[in-house]
Amino acid sequence: MPDAETDRAQAIRETVMATPHRYSIWPKDPAAHLFEVRLTVADPNPAGQVFAMPAWIPGSYMVRDYAKHVVTARAESDGRDVALRKLDKSRWQAAHSDRELTLVLEVFAHDESVRGAHLDLTHAFFNGTCVFPAVDGQEDVPCQLEILAPERPVGKNWRVATSMNRKGAEQYGFGSYQAEDYAELIDHPVEVGELSIGEFDVCDVPHAIAIRGNTRVDMARLCHDLQTICEHHMSFLGRPADLDRYLFLLNAPGSGYGGLEHRWSSALICGRDNLPARGDEGVSDEYRTFLGLVSHEYFHLWNVKRIKPAVFTPYDLSQESHTGLLWVFEGVTSYYDDLALVRSGMIDTTSYLELLGQTITRVTRSSGRRKQSVAESSFDAWTKFYKQDANATNAIISYYTKGALIALALDLKLRSETDGNCTLDDIMTAAWQRWGESGEGMPEDGFEKLSAEVSGLDLEDFFDAAVRGTGELPLETLLRTHGITYHLRRSAGGKDSGGKAETEAKLPAVWLGAILNGKDSAPVFGAIHNGGPAEQAGIAPGDELVALDGLRISLAGCEARTRRYHAGDKSDVTVFRGDELMTLRLRWAEAPADTCYLIEDDEADPSTISRRDTWLTR
Ligand SMILES: [Zn+2]
Repeated sequence: MPDAETDRAQAIRETVMATPHRYSIWPKDPAAHLFEVRLTVADPNPAGQVFAMPAWIPGSYMVRDYAKHVVTARAESDGRDVALRKLDKSRWQAAHSDRELTLVLEVFAHDESVRGAHLDLTHAFFNGTCVFPAVDGQEDVPCQLEILAPERPVGKNWRVATSMNRKGAEQYGFGSYQAEDYAELIDHPVEVGELSIGEFDVCDVPHAIAIRGNTRVDMARLCHDLQTICEHHMSFLGRPADLDRYLFLLNAPGSGYGGLEHRWSSALICGRDNLPARGDEGVSDEYRTFLGLVSHEYFHLWNVKRIKPAVFTPYDLSQESHTGLLWVFEGVTSYYDDLALVRSGMIDTTSYLELLGQTITRVTRSSGRRKQSVAESSFDAWTKFYKQDANATNAIISYYTKGALIALALDLKLRSETDGNCTLDDIMTAAWQRWGESGEGMPEDGFEKLSAEVSGLDLEDFFDAAVRGTGELPLETLLRTHGITYHLRRSAGGKDSGGKAETEAKLPAVWLGAILNGKDSAPVFGAIHNGGPAEQAGIAPGDELVALDGLRISLAGCEARTRRYHAGDKSDVTVFRGDELMTLRLRWAEAPADTCYLIEDDEADPSTISRRDTWLTR
């Protein structure tokens, strides 16, 4: 029997739910990079409403304390000021109020990354995490958002691009938008500016790309290529029930790279000249990188935005949220991003193997893979992967790159051991069915258990070694069983990211065991590899390289001079450490074979070649 108290609580809840929180955002002073954000709550907690800014944004696992960008905060009710008290780094509490309460924030926005907020005279971009506080205890209440235009003459030709549902606003216009709850409100980044917009359908779902920046892009080709990639992914895992639109927000400045996934959109950055111009043919290396980024963020729409680790259901945005599974969400996504390019016909097999060779090279060049497992790398992402220092190459391994290689190894192992009857595609399909639309998160051991269950194989030793271990993955053998030969060679220099064979004469015999950065005139030591010549000579990260054997040296010059030495030769390396000039004695060592390239083995037997073709075409 329902009791009266429950009925009353239910009635109050229904009233609250019927009145959405009213947010507004206004580019108040674009030249000073200041937004004004207002939030009106119809039924504030009479004990004193608490408001909280997120400490981090889903998809980027680092505490960024977005409240630090709030310049001023005040509250008002019925035109009168209400006292507001700061509770901790991210939260405010308003004094008692039993009627409508409005919080007014001034927020500084000058972070042009995909996880930030940025405002100037040319555009506005924001993630909700950077500008919108949550109403504590009422996070489930629907939210209405009014996006306001700046004062003229700024923003005369500005349009609004966001995947948030419109509630009165014209398409691409200022005005009212709505979200089901706070979690959804902050999952729709918004770009406002002079935009080039292209539209296309994927399996009857309207998709669009909104580009900021003077790109002079071939929009018809771009839309066609994006459509091809999206259709490929959609035919793989199927259309999510709530996917009724999708938007790529692309910021295309002179240079830059990055992406962040959302449920109905993604925010991307790439250099404007990486996009195809009218008349361009073929896929340049830079455009291939961009297509890989698009493919990656779009695949996330299933893998991490809907299939999520259990600890992210719901997200706790007040503090770090640890999981050992980022390798599944970022690594498996990184495996499928490039694989989708070859499977959908955007690139050929040679081009795909080049990308795979580059991923293997990145892992091979990090000796940190021998110290940190991907489970640990996932767990410690907050303080290690996202806060890399000069020792990162020696101490950590990326759960993106090694995660992608574990996905590759698992896929090839499943294909070999089940005679092609089970593949990673089947595991992901099962993961989608189990966790994709149930709202339930994947438990920490979920992916491994599911893989064993779906394949019928005992995969315990594989996962122990690959995920929790720090040994080498059996890639050479697995690739050979799929008609691909694996090769390692020495690096040809700073610009050599691997993936391609090189003639022996082009490869320096010795190395410094360090990364040199900086401008040509003053190379500066970055990462110093454990056990390498630079470390043994006593060179430290940050040392400025002045001379090699008494001769002033530039970045390019250093690579050229390196070719004149042999293993065992000694050199005087003169560096500035701060303002102290010092000369250190360095003994050159043989350069390691740390650069991978892969070749299609056309001598392989027909069944091996057929296995390779099935893998790369699905
Ligand atoms: Zn990702």
